[in-house]
Amino acid sequence: MNFLAAAGARRLCALRGVFPCLWRGKYFSSGNEPAENNSVTPMLRHLIYKIKSTGPITVAEYMKEVLTNPAKGYYMKHDMLGEEGDFITSPEISQMFGELLGIWFISEWIAAGKNAAFQLVELGPGKGTLLEDILRVFSQLGSLLKNCDISLHLVEVSQKLSEIQALTLTEEKVPLERNAESPVYMKGVTKSGIPVSWYRDLQDVPKEYSFYLAHEFFDVLPVHKFQKTPHGWREVLVDIDPQVSDKLRFVLAPCATPAETFIQDDETRDHVEVCPEAGVVIQELSQRISLTGGAALIADYGHDGTKTDTFRGFRGHRLHDVLTAPGTADLTADVDFSYLRRMSQGKVASLGPIEQQTFLRNMGIDVRLKILLDKTDEPSLRQQLLQGYNMLMNPMKMGERFNFLALVPHQRLHGRSHQTNARQSKPSPSPVAGFGELAWQ
Ligand code: SAH
Repeated sequence: MNFLAAAGARRLCALRGVFPCLWRGKYFSSGNEPAENNSVTPMLRHLIYKIKSTGPITVAEYMKEVLTNPAKGYYMKHDMLGEEGDFITSPEISQMFGELLGIWFISEWIAAGKNAAFQLVELGPGKGTLLEDILRVFSQLGSLLKNCDISLHLVEVSQKLSEIQALTLTEEKVPLERNAESPVYMKGVTKSGIPVSWYRDLQDVPKEYSFYLAHEFFDVLPVHKFQKTPHGWREVLVDIDPQVSDKLRFVLAPCATPAETFIQDDETRDHVEVCPEAGVVIQELSQRISLTGGAALIADYGHDGTKTDTFRGFRGHRLHDVLTAPGTADLTADVDFSYLRRMSQGKVASLGPIEQQTFLRNMGIDVRLKILLDKTDEPSLRQQLLQGYNMLMNPMKMGERFNFLALVPHQRLHGRSHQTNARQSKPSPSPVAGFGELAWQ
C-alpha cells in the first residue's frame, strides 16, 4: 500500500493561515534585548514577594513559576499558539507534518509486530492539531488498524489548552467526564470513536504498550543555568534589581549550589543549561519502552551538547526579554539532545537527533506534497501547501534548527546495526522510518 497516497487522500485541510509569524527556534536571547514592556504583572508581584521572603531563585524555579504556576502561569490560561498568539509550531503550519508523523507511528507499529492494542501518548499537545492530523491518517488507513484497539492519552498541565484540545479532538455529542481531583482529570471520545484521557503527569498514564510523542515539549521544561568562574561553576539566579524595586535581574550564586552536580565532569563550555526535569521524563519513557515495548518520537529545536546561552522569551512573534512582564510571554531553551540520550541510560536504543528536513524527506514529504498539489486547483490552497513545505524544510527556516530523536526497544534494531559496520565505510541504513527511508510504500 502506498501510505502517502492513502493518508488523507479524500481530504485536504482547510486553509491554515499564511505565516508572517515567527516560530520559536529562530533566535537566541540572553535576556538582554531592550525591554518591550515594563508593566508590573501579577506574576512579577508574586516573584518579588517570593524573592524578598526566601532569597534569589534559580532560573529553573523562575521558568517553572512563570510558565506553569497553577494560578498565574503563562501556559495555564493562555492560547498562545498560532498567528494571533506568541509563536507558531510545525503542526499549525502544515497538515503534512502530522500526516507524516501518523505514518511513522503506523510503520513502527507494523515493524514491531502489529500489537493488538496501543496507547498513543502525547506530551504537551498544544491545540491538539498534531493529533488531529495523526488521527486522520489512522482513519484513512483504517483497513490496516481495524482490529487494533487504540486509545489516546494527553499529558497537559494547562486547563485552557486541554479545553481547546477537547474541542479539536472530541465528539461533542458525547459529554466530557471531568474530575479535577483525579490524576485523569478529563475523559472523552474522539470524533472517530477513540477513547481519550487527560493527565497532568506522565507517571499517571497506564504503563501499557505505547507510542509516545513530544513535539516542542522539552524546550519549555525548566533549565538551570551555570557560568564558569575563576572559583568554579556558579549557578545563575534571579534576584530583585537593587536600583529598581519592581525589576528583576540575573546574579551569580556566591557559592556552589546543589544543582551543580548536574554538570558533567569533562564539561568544556563556560556556560551551560541543564534540564533535570527532561532527564526524569526520558528515564520514565525509557523504562516504559524497555518493559512494554513501543517507541517515543521527540522533535524540538536543540543541539548536541554544544550550545551555551539559549534561554529566551517570545511574545506576539517577537523576542521578549525573559525577565520583563513575566507571565505574559513564552519562555524556552534549546533542548540538549546529548543529555536526553545520556538520560536514557542504555535502557533503549536511540536514533538521531537528525534534522527535520532529513526526517521529513525520508518520510516522503516530497511525494506527499505532490499528491496534495495534484488534488487542488485552488490557488490559495496550493500557495499554503508550498509555503508550509518551505517553512518546514528550508534549512534557513525550520529544516535545520529542528531535530528528531527516537527511542525504541533494543530488540527493534536487533541484528541490524544502524551504527557504522566495521567492514563498511558507510553506516548501514536505519530500519526505522524517518532515520532511514520509509520502507512500506
Ligand atoms: N506540541 C504542541 C504544543 C507545544 S507548546 C505543538 O507542537 O503545537 C508546549 C505544550 O506543553 C503546551 O501544550 C503546554 O501547555 C504544555 N506543557 C508545558 N509544560 C508542561 C508540563 N510540565 N507538563 C505537561 N505539559 C506541559
